[in-house]
Parts: sequence; structure tokens; C-alpha cells
Amino acid sequence: MPELPEVETTRRGIEPYLINQTILYTIIRNPHLRWPISNEILSLTNQIILSVQRRAKYLLIELPTGWIIVHFGMSGCLKVLPQGVMAKKHDHIDLIISNNKILRYNDPRRFGAWLWAENFTNCRIFTQLGVEPLTMEFNKHYLFEKSRGKRTPIKSWLMNNKIVVGIGNIYASESLFFAKILPERLAGSLTKNESNLLVSAIKTVLLDSIEQGGTTLCNFLQLDGKPGYFTQQLQVYGRAGKYCYRCTHIIEMVKQRQRSTFFCRHCQH
Ligand SMILES: [Zn+2]
Repeated sequence: MPELPEVETTRRGIEPYLINQTILYTIIRNPHLRWPISNEILSLTNQIILSVQRRAKYLLIELPTGWIIVHFGMSGCLKVLPQGVMAKKHDHIDLIISNNKILRYNDPRRFGAWLWAENFTNCRIFTQLGVEPLTMEFNKHYLFEKSRGKRTPIKSWLMNNKIVVGIGNIYASESLFFAKILPERLAGSLTKNESNLLVSAIKTVLLDSIEQGGTTLCNFLQLDGKPGYFTQQLQVYGRAGKYCYRCTHIIEMVKQRQRSTFFCRHCQH
């Protein structure tokens, strides 16, 4: 599933091909994604692309009259292709761009979404969201204060978008390993020092992942590549029963709110 790093990598990858270019028109082969594609997107013509941004796991394309909001769902993938490349199965949307390129959206499972908002900041999906993890607002003071009195296990609490956005299941396990904090501990038990370590760990894990192209990224320029998924070097996630890279104890796995959590009981306290 595309997580924050994949969306950010995609944003960085496609932005140079889109910025200040014009969307000439759109081709919709299948309007039935998770929700029907917004009418404003179906009828788009001749709109200049002002910016390509990201909020949480949403990609935002800014146009003079509003914003295209893309969510990649389980299997969505955007590619920049030369015009004339034949569409394949699951290629649901093309934005035809003035520089002889196409921005093409592929989504085999169709859990993604293409929505429209005149102003995304007061859009219902965004008003509920917590801070961005890679901004200055997400710091040790914020995490410490927010966690006071919280009796939710720290890992589940970190994955709550109302606190901080974009920390998915993989990144929650990995960050807690780096910060040496057991995922089952209650959020309210974090010390100031641990809050500091955890904030640094989260930022490092996310930035490393963005640098490596995300853990589950489709190659946004590859012409005939299927959405190719690859895995970055993960320390604990998916490694149950294997030796910890740091101490050689065995990595354990537990279920928390139906999600798998991986950790080393020897390194994390
Ligand atoms: Zn260990």
C-alpha cells in the first residue's frame, strides 16, 4: 500500500514534468474508483498546473480553479509517459499535458480516489488531520504533550492520523525499534527523552525511505514496468523469528488492532 514516503517520492518525481504545464484534457476509462471520479476532473480542459503538493498520503495538484486530490488506495500508481503510449489494463485515468506527456493513473484494485476541491484546506478530509511528521511542528514537545494521559499502546497511538499523519504500520514498527521503545507500552508513559528519540527516529525512517524511493513504489517513469514493488532494508518489520541486526535476539511479532507489530524485546524497553 503506498504510504507517505511513496506519495512523496511520486510527488518529487512527477513535479518537474507538470509544473507550469497545461492539462489539455482528461481521458477517463473507468470512473469507478473507491468513489466516482469528481465531475470537475472529468470535464477539465486547458488548466495550468500551479503546484504539486502532498498532505498526509494525498497528492494535490493545484489548478487555477481548484485542486485535484489523489489518494492511491491499495494499489494506485502514477506515471509520466510520452503521448501515444497505449493504455493497458487498469490504466483508468490520463491527464494529457501540453509538453507531449501523459500523467497516467493505474490502479488494479480501484481503492484509490480522484476528488476535486475548490480549496483543499477547508475540505472535510483535511480538517481532521494532525501535523505532518517532516515539519518543525512535529517535535519532542508536541509528541510529549499530546501523549500525556493516553492509555493507548504507543504503536497504535502513533498510527492515529489525528495526532500525526502518514506513520503507517511499517514505519511505526521501524521507528519504535530505532527509538528503543516497546510498541506495547502506553503512549502516556513516554518520557521527554524518549519523545525526543522517537521524533528523530520517525523523521529519519521516513526520510531514508523517501530517499530510497519508498518501500512499495511504482516506478513513475518506467514505460512498460508493472507497478514494481521492492523493499528497502527494514530492521524489524516482516522479520519475525529472525535475528535482530543489533543484538542477535529473535524478532517477535504481535497483533495490535489487527495489525502486525514487530519488535526486539531485548533492544526495546
Ligand atoms: Zn535486538
